Amino acid sequence: MKAKSGLTRFHNCFILRDSAIIKEDLWIRNGKIENPEHIFYVEQLEADETINCESLLISPGFIDIQINGGWGIDFSYDSENVEDGVHKVAQNLLSHGVTSFCPTMVTSDKEKYKKILPHIKKSPGGKHGATILGVHLEGPFINIEKKGAHMDQYIKSLDKGIDTINEIYGSLDNVVMVTLAPELPGATQAIKDLTKLGIKVALGHSAASLAQGEEAIKNGANLITHLFNAMLPFHHRDPGLVGLLASTTNKQVYYGIISDGLHTHPAALRIACRTNPAGLVLVSDAVAAQGLADGNYHIGPQRVTVQGGKAYVEGTKTLCGSTANLDECVRTFKEATDCTLEYALETATLHPARALGIEHRKGNLNFGSDADFVVMHPKTLKVLSTWIAGECVYKCQSNGV
Ligand code: ZN
Repeated sequence: MKAKSGLTRFHNCFILRDSAIIKEDLWIRNGKIENPEHIFYVEQLEADETINCESLLISPGFIDIQINGGWGIDFSYDSENVEDGVHKVAQNLLSHGVTSFCPTMVTSDKEKYKKILPHIKKSPGGKHGATILGVHLEGPFINIEKKGAHMDQYIKSLDKGIDTINEIYGSLDNVVMVTLAPELPGATQAIKDLTKLGIKVALGHSAASLAQGEEAIKNGANLITHLFNAMLPFHHRDPGLVGLLASTTNKQVYYGIISDGLHTHPAALRIACRTNPAGLVLVSDAVAAQGLADGNYHIGPQRVTVQGGKAYVEGTKTLCGSTANLDECVRTFKEATDCTLEYALETATLHPARALGIEHRKGNLNFGSDADFVVMHPKTLKVLSTWIAGECVYKCQSNGV
């Protein structure tokens, strides 16, 4: 009997690679994507298993960098059994093609950070759920004028820069991203310090001018949180944070967009992606109601009412997060902007990976990258199966038509 090569070959499929969808086999070994040329000509090995994909599409796995919860779990609210809650969401995300995510906490009481943060550890994905890349902390260092659903009494100033940050959050070990308002006193130093620690800084819930935004980018920030929402509207004399999309800074700025069909008008989506195509990152910004029926939920300490799939701060018409899944956002975005399929997929894969600086291992199907991917119907874009590190972690019962 021949020795096992450990190779799996996905055959008869279309794969997204280098911004093009090409008909090519995908080779996997030890959880990574392999170079077939090397296998044929140097190693001279054959696959142990060949999977016929029947002309389906293979996209890199989706990466959600802003998600507050889902399936009844709110990452900022449920401080008992945090691990169980995160696990529940991580597992449910698999059916939506999400292979990695950043659990997101909104502005919360100091005690909540201490209780919750140490329990959301960075961890690799598998059958148990999507990879946890680290926590995205949205607030409490935001501008009260642009608070959205964040609660006044927990919003904090940044007087002592990183010392204040450490004092409020406690440990930053599990954190990969912080959204703050760059116009707050002390923010400049905090941005520099967070960047030095390898934590990405996103600008949001902010009334910053373009000049303040540019200063923040110069000091290390590289993202904007949910573009258009909770910031100054575009003004031709001072375009505010929105202006960063066309700023002359030579650094690529990434910006999260919620394309659930509610938060951002299709024309605004088109303006964004035509102005700065490489920076667009789809986020779900999903709340606990994701995957569940209308009703009453929480986002952090704030009560939320979901009606007709729209999440509002209780008793108001203020939108707070979405109930959409990231795969739905990809479909909505493609329809709204009439962009190419390649581009739509990259906004939920390659772009978020680049924004977090992990594109050497995630967000693409390059040789050497993690074998995290989604098999989809090429027309309906329905997720048919999800794979993490080369292992099938979800399989849909329907054929996706
Ligand atoms: Zn927000």
